[in-house]
This record gives sequence, C-alpha cells and structure tokens, in this order.
Amino acid sequence: MPEKCAVCGQPFELEPGFWYGTGYVSYALSVALSVTTFVAWYVLIGMSVHDNRFFVWMGINIFLLIVLQPWLMRLSRVIYLYFFVKYNPDHKQDAVETHSH
Ligand SMILES: [Zn+2]
Repeated sequence: MPEKCAVCGQPFELEPGFWYGTGYVSYALSVALSVTTFVAWYVLIGMSVHDNRFFVWMGINIFLLIVLQPWLMRLSRVIYLYFFVKYNPDHKQDAVETHSH
C-alpha cells in the first residue's frame, strides 16, 4: 500500500491508527464473501447433515479467506478511506485531506 496517492498526493493514512477502523470493513467483507460462497455451494453442490459437504465448504472458505487476505485488506482500506475522503475533481488546485479538519 503506497503512503500517498501517486496522482494528487492525498495521504492514505489520515492519522496514526487510522487503519484500525478497516478491521470492521474487512470483517464485513469476509462475512459477505463467506455468505456468497455458502450460497453458491448450497445451490451448486448442496448441503446435508448426513455427509461432510458442509465441512468441505468450510475448509475451502477458510482457504479462500486466507488467500484473498492481501486483496481484502487493500479493498477494505479503499472503502474505509472513501468514508472520509471524497473524490475531488479539482485535485490539481486544492489541498489534500488531512486529519486537521
Ligand atoms: Zn489521488
């Protein structure tokens, strides 16, 4: 993750500890991903209490969450940053957002 935007110089970490809040976003993304794979598995492969298909899904899901973690982490940071910094079409003239406001 770069420290600031390559185009306008917007710092990504607005204040020390800013990224702690991304934990909630990345948790929400992980839950959303798990629900998605669960529904896909349920529809395509099915679930039954009489075999271990549920546990196979769980293993695959955990594997997916670990493999996608770097991507989820960056995505959640971008989503979190959007709560605080809106796109500014005049970014060439205007000052960047900082924690001073
Ligand atoms: Zn920018």
